[in-house]
Amino acid sequence: MERLWAPWRLIYVTGAGGASEGCVFCTSADPSREELVLIRSAVCYVILNLYPYNNGHLMVVPNRHVATLAATTAGEQAELMRLTRHAEIALTEAYSPQGINVGLNLGRPAGAGILDHLHVHLVPRWNGDTNFMTVVGNVRVLPEDLEATAAKLRPIFERLQRDNV
Ligand SMILES: [Zn+2]
Repeated sequence: MERLWAPWRLIYVTGAGGASEGCVFCTSADPSREELVLIRSAVCYVILNLYPYNNGHLMVVPNRHVATLAATTAGEQAELMRLTRHAEIALTEAYSPQGINVGLNLGRPAGAGILDHLHVHLVPRWNGDTNFMTVVGNVRVLPEDLEATAAKLRPIFERLQRDNV
């Protein structure tokens, strides 16, 4: 039986405190986090995972501190999907992946690292990357690499936003 590979099991870690006490996604307004943010809208934002499994591993996050889809408004649902679509377009354009994992983990047994603040993961995939990532998946990617990833992806998100794609 093929092994289920769940890249988003990796916990998104930070020492920041803030808006909803200790919630990393609420405190992503922190300027020190801003370099990871790819686009912001009134309702949601897109941010690079600090500990990516692959280049371009990012997350679409509602601004509001909500834990489940059940707790989201229709506006948040639409915006999450709109930005998830933009993320698919941006990752495809920047990295030409052979596949993309798109996923939500609700609750700890489902592999959620951050339990209380909903987020959609997108992880670009290439044939044969599983073994490689198993070996290096827990190695922290250097900040320069994340900055390079952000520099690559941010203009694409901004263009998609501007052109209202
Ligand atoms: Zn939060």
